[in-house]
Amino acid sequence: MCGIFGVRGHPDATHLAQLGLYSLQHRGQESVGVVSIDPAGTARAVRTMGTLSDAVAVELSKMAGVTAIGHTRYSTSGSSTIENAQPVVARSRGGYITLAHNGNLINAAELRMELEDQGSIFASTNDSEVVVHRLARSGAGSPADRLADALSGVEGAYSLIVAMGDTLLAARDPRGWRPLTMGRLGDAVVFASETCALDIVGATVEREVEPGEIIAVDSDGIHSTHPLPAREPHRCVFEFVYFARPDSRVYGESVDRARRALGRRLAVEHPAPTAELVFSVPDSSNSAALGFAEQSGLPYELALIRNHYVGRTFIQPTQAGRDAKVKVKYNPVREVLAGKRVVMVDDSIVRGTTTRGLVALVRAAGAREVHLRVSSAPVTGPCYYGIDTPSREELIAAKFSTSEIATHLGVDSLGYLSLDGMLGSVPSGPHGFCHACFSGDYPTPPPTDPDKLRFGCGC
Ligand code: AMP
Repeated sequence: MCGIFGVRGHPDATHLAQLGLYSLQHRGQESVGVVSIDPAGTARAVRTMGTLSDAVAVELSKMAGVTAIGHTRYSTSGSSTIENAQPVVARSRGGYITLAHNGNLINAAELRMELEDQGSIFASTNDSEVVVHRLARSGAGSPADRLADALSGVEGAYSLIVAMGDTLLAARDPRGWRPLTMGRLGDAVVFASETCALDIVGATVEREVEPGEIIAVDSDGIHSTHPLPAREPHRCVFEFVYFARPDSRVYGESVDRARRALGRRLAVEHPAPTAELVFSVPDSSNSAALGFAEQSGLPYELALIRNHYVGRTFIQPTQAGRDAKVKVKYNPVREVLAGKRVVMVDDSIVRGTTTRGLVALVRAAGAREVHLRVSSAPVTGPCYYGIDTPSREELIAAKFSTSEIATHLGVDSLGYLSLDGMLGSVPSGPHGFCHACFSGDYPTPPPTDPDKLRFGCGC
C-alpha cells in the first residue's frame, strides 16, 4: 500500500506535499519521498527510508516548487530499499517525468521483460517504473494522451499522480481499486489518496477521480478523459475495513460511518451476552468497536494503549520485525481489565501473530473472559491489488477453522463478521467492491509471479 499526494499551481507546493504526507503516513512507513518541480520545469527529489522525519522536513524546506508530488510506501512488490522509494523521477527527451503510484500491476513482469528485450535498463525493482518507461517511449501528443497510451495494456491496480512538463495528471485504473480524490486550494489543484490529506492543507474536496479517468491539469485548466476500456468497478473493501483513516472519505464515503456500521452488524451477528465491556485494538478498530458498543449497549473502554511512536506492526516487512514490534506497541490498562469479561474488537486477523500476543497481554492484565469479535470476514487469500497480505500459507484463516483459530489465539469465543454482513454494511455496498482476499473471487487471473521480491513496488 502507499499514499500519494500531488499539487499544481501553488508557490508553497513542496510544503503542502510535506503536510499531505504527514496525513498519509499510515499508508506506508517503509519510505517517503517528495519531488518538487520549479517554474523552470526542473525536478528535485528527496527520498528516504522510513517516515517523514524532521531531517527530511529540513531538506524539503530548501526546495522551491510550484508543483510537487509525494509518496509514502510500503511494498507489495519490490524489496524495501531506497531504489524502490517513490516518486520515480526520470529525464526523457521531453523533459522530466515524475510518477507516484498506489496499487499493484499484475502484468508488470511481462511488461518489464518486453521493455528489457528492447534494451530498457531499470533503476529499481518496483512495478511502477514500467509505466515511466512506457511514458518515455510513447509518441502520443499531449501528456494525457501519452499517459493513456502508456496505460493501455497495463493490468491491475493503479492510482497514479504524474507530472510531465507543466502538466499534473491523475489516473485511476478502470476497476477503481485504490482511492484517489481531487481538491482545490485557491487556484491550485490537489490530488490525494485520502481526503484527510486535503484537510491538512486546507483544500476543499471536489470529487473522486473516477475509475478509468485521466485528469490533466495545466495552464488552461482541468481536462478529464476516459480513454481506458470500462470495467466493472472493484473498489477495495479493505480500505473501509482497515486501511484508510476514519476521518477520511474514500470512494466518496465516510470511513468512520462504514466502520461503525461494520461494528454494529458484528454485534448483531455475534453478540457476547456475558461481556461487561467492549474495547478496540487501537487505532484501526476504534470506530468498529464504538459501533459494537452502541449496538450491544455495553460500555466502550480504553483497555489497550498504543504507543504512537512505533509504526504499524505489519508495515515491518519481515516476520522478525513484526514480532518485536507487537511487544512494544501495545500496553493494557490493568484497572480496566482486571476481573472483567471483555469483548475485544479487531478489524481483521491476517496471520494471527499480533492478535495472539494481544490476547495474552489482555489475559495477563486480569481479564476473566476474552471474546474476540472481528469486523471483517476471515482473510483467506492474498491480495494482488495493492494490500500487503502474505501468501495463503501464512494466512491463519486459510488453514484453520474458526474454533481452531479461537483455541490458537486463546480466546473464550471468536466471531468474524460474515462476508454478506461486511459487504452489506459498507456505504454503497454490497456491489462494486473487490473482496477477493475474503471470498476468493478474484476479478483477474493471478499475476504470473506473485512473489513480491522476484523483481520487484507496487504498493
Ligand atoms: P495478526 O494478528 O498478526 O493477523 O494482525 C492483525 C492486525 O493487523 C489487526 O489489528 C489489523 O488491524 C492489522 N492488519 C490487517 N491487515 C493489515 C495489513 N495489510 N497491513 C498492516 N496491518 C494489517
